[in-house]
Amino acid sequence: LPAAPSTPAQPVERTLVLVKPDGVRRGLSGEVLRRIETKGYTLAAVELKHATPELLAAHYAEHEGKPFYAPLVEFMLSGPTLAVVAEGQGVIPGFRSLAGATNPTEAAPGTIRGDLGRDWGLKVQQNLVHGSDSPESAAREIALWFPGL
Ligand code: GDP
Ligand code: MG
Repeated sequence: LPAAPSTPAQPVERTLVLVKPDGVRRGLSGEVLRRIETKGYTLAAVELKHATPELLAAHYAEHEGKPFYAPLVEFMLSGPTLAVVAEGQGVIPGFRSLAGATNPTEAAPGTIRGDLGRDWGLKVQQNLVHGSDSPESAAREIALWFPGL
């Protein structure tokens, strides 16, 4: 017999989603949550947080030294971020598909960045959302944004 829904065969997959300060400022937090939920993923945690320099240094460690690093951190400090843990099989690549390409000008219509984002002529791509890019990144980022979850 197939396993009952309450006893999944595989551990549930989780990703960290951030509605970045541009998305929160523009009132798009609900729209991003709606897209996650209507896709069929579950919200495991949602919290509005103002990031600290220490949190961002850890979160964006892979980008340290790149030309967009300082403007990226400054942007991420410019207002509150909605931190979300979403779960469901395939949610890590699945949310990256929902988000679309990093550059909102190139992101396909139908994606969050493609439908809702644009180039504002700034030093950093203000592209509304973040999504973890691998199981290792997801575990690391969830521990940073939701210690104890
Ligand atoms: P993501 O995984 O699609 O968010 O992209 P990355 O992990 O490569 O980059 C992290 C964030 O840095 C992006 O979401 C953008 O906000 C910003 N960023 C990345 N690449 C560039 C770039 O080439 N130019 C600028 N201006 N910003 C960038
Ligand atoms: Mg990334």
